[in-house]
Amino acid sequence: MTMIYCRECGARHSDKAKACPKCGYRTFDASKSIVVYLILAWFLGIFGIHKFYVGKTNQGIVMAIMGTIGWLLIIPGIAVCVWALVDFIVGICNINTPEKILNKK
Ligand SMILES: [Zn+2]
Repeated sequence: MTMIYCRECGARHSDKAKACPKCGYRTFDASKSIVVYLILAWFLGIFGIHKFYVGKTNQGIVMAIMGTIGWLLIIPGIAVCVWALVDFIVGICNINTPEKILNKK
């Protein structure tokens, strides 16, 4: 366990806490890892697996549809490749602030 500073109020709390005990600011789910997210986005991104991983089920379903039957129309298949790549790059850029990616919002 490590102590981290709340990004909202600056109070120290455990990195295992789901939310800041002082102000209630929601931290990310500590059971999830940005590294796993990046691996999923890279290898299985066109099926939206990384979206399911962070709880963005709706986006995951859209990506899964685009990444499978979307290929019949070619364009959605290509679009979902770009989408997954963008998610991967955004994930890399936020590797030090994983709560931006791992928050469900
Ligand atoms: Zn706080």
